[in-house]
Amino acid sequence: MEWLTNINWQDGFGNGRFFWIEWHFWKVVGWLGNAVFFSRFFVQWYATERLKRVVVPTAFWWLSLLGSLLLLSYALCYQRDSVFIFAYAFTWIPYIRNLIIHRRHKEAHLDCPRCGEICPPHSNFCFACGTRLAVGEAASK
Ligand SMILES: [Zn+2]
Repeated sequence: MEWLTNINWQDGFGNGRFFWIEWHFWKVVGWLGNAVFFSRFFVQWYATERLKRVVVPTAFWWLSLLGSLLLLSYALCYQRDSVFIFAYAFTWIPYIRNLIIHRRHKEAHLDCPRCGEICPPHSNFCFACGTRLAVGEAASK
């Protein structure tokens, strides 16, 4: 436990520091980006545990997008380091693409009017409760 007594607690807290970090606007942006980006793993893990199969929920892509944009702005405006700018410069492209595909996929699917189950496009019957689905309406979309 010697390391604990060797820590200079006075350096880490006070004088604008909290946990040895000098906080200012860009530090908040950067750490917020870290927190948002990191939280997406828990969101994905939770969704997977809940359904007992590997799933990537929409929230994962939103958190990825927001987190990477915060980290990109930190890298561009504060850090100005080419390595970190490159790391986040293009990641938003697949995030946005996944959100678009997710939305189109959801729109193409049929909602069962009886049980609310989301059924694949062109389904004649709900696979959960067997209710006949409005096929003509879906085909014209
Ligand atoms: Zn149904």
